[in-house]
Amino acid sequence: MRHVNALPERGLPAQDVLAELREMRGGDLPTHGGRLFAYVYDPGLAGLDDLAAAAHAISAHVNGLDPTAFPSLLAMENDLVGAAAQLLGGDERTVGSVTGGGTESLILAVKAARDGRPDIAAPRLVMPVTAHAALAKAAAYLRVALDTVPVDPATLRVDPAAVAAAITPDTVLVACSAPSYAHGLIDPVEPIAAAARAAGVRCHVDACFGGWTLPYLRRLGEPVPPFDLSVPGVTSISVDLHKYAYAPKGVSVLLHRDEQLRAPQYFGYADWPGYTMVNPVISSTRSGGPIAAAWATLRHIGDDGYLALAARTREATRAIADAVAKIEDFAVVPRESTVVAFMSCGVDLFVLADELAARGWHTQPQFRHGEIPASVHLTVTAAVAPRVGEFESDLAAAVAAARSHGPVELPDGILELLGQVPVEQLAATLGLGEGGALPQRIAPINTLLNAVDPAVREQLLVAFLSLLQRPSRRP
Ligand SMILES: *Cc1c(COP(=O)(O)O)cnc(C)c1O
Repeated sequence: MRHVNALPERGLPAQDVLAELREMRGGDLPTHGGRLFAYVYDPGLAGLDDLAAAAHAISAHVNGLDPTAFPSLLAMENDLVGAAAQLLGGDERTVGSVTGGGTESLILAVKAARDGRPDIAAPRLVMPVTAHAALAKAAAYLRVALDTVPVDPATLRVDPAAVAAAITPDTVLVACSAPSYAHGLIDPVEPIAAAARAAGVRCHVDACFGGWTLPYLRRLGEPVPPFDLSVPGVTSISVDLHKYAYAPKGVSVLLHRDEQLRAPQYFGYADWPGYTMVNPVISSTRSGGPIAAAWATLRHIGDDGYLALAARTREATRAIADAVAKIEDFAVVPRESTVVAFMSCGVDLFVLADELAARGWHTQPQFRHGEIPASVHLTVTAAVAPRVGEFESDLAAAVAAARSHGPVELPDGILELLGQVPVEQLAATLGLGEGGALPQRIAPINTLLNAVDPAVREQLLVAFLSLLQRPSRRP
């Protein structure tokens, strides 16, 4: 990583600054081209980036702090919420908010649930253990206790009766996923929501990942079970527009069944000599850029466009899953959305991920959790469709290389060392370079992280990130 002085003594010409930025971006993983199976969502549509960038530029300096000063932003937000409600089983009572991302939508869903029950002193959140980490973050930020319900490690399914049994008088929210991020599986929303409703508890469906594709997959004939606001008992649902709505980063929608459920999400403060602050979401000042970019993206792609993209994505997902399933010792998680997740009993998946990366394919290895084995996650988007053949042959080569490489063997005693050496030293031992550069092969690091308990993994990675986040020094 290159460091420059972000505040040079003399400002630089715009062209030079952009050249520097492009050079830095060249060191990132490729956001387009269907070779990165996480983080990015690429429809592979020519011209879409330019449209979104132009829309972003038009509204970048508009401030969402006060919608009466900038009615364009209020209008676009209402349009986006309306579109999400239309797609996700809303009706004339549905309301919502545009947020900066899935995590913010989830924090607000938990906040609304918590503050909707001021009578409960020690509020709790119930969710399957496969629910997204952002819900755990929401619970931690808001001091809501977390009750995770295990899934069957063989099927990765939660038993709705176990969710129902976890609800206590202190439960303010039950959450579930449609689909889960890690494995792309849709929780049994109907019985979970029914149990929540019977207990008088809110139920949030985290459809951040797949909320924009599941309705289209259903229209294409996939057997998508009911998961949205059409299900009795579902009180809120979240969908990220910066995922399968293919908007640039920074936009998600949180829908509530009605105004009354949304009310405790708001924050108002008039008890100071400045302007009365009234905020629906976490940020107060916020840019209109991402909202305008998302609005332009939806208007341009349209319902027919999203249907066509879902068809392409479905084909790509099927083909990738078939390619993986052909490999001996590999088990593919049943495909319910646009994720391909797989496990292997014969190949070290961390070595495989390195071998794929060496061939230009960037996958997301997932650590074991309790009885749930380690896996590889692939988020599939439409841009993957033209790459399937290439992927299939590179996968076969990567598997062969991983087999001959064999599994990573950790040096004796390394696990005992973990708690004893400072993280700087550990990072150096593992070959983590200055400024966060990762070594070419990270399987040894992943193997180590996979071997330790989640709490140790958290500590190590938090310490490592904090090591990376050091201010650039004046050159
Ligand atoms: C991505 C994701 C989130 C978190 O969203 P961010 O936009 O990364 O904050 C939450 N839940 C699910 C299911 C997701 O896929």
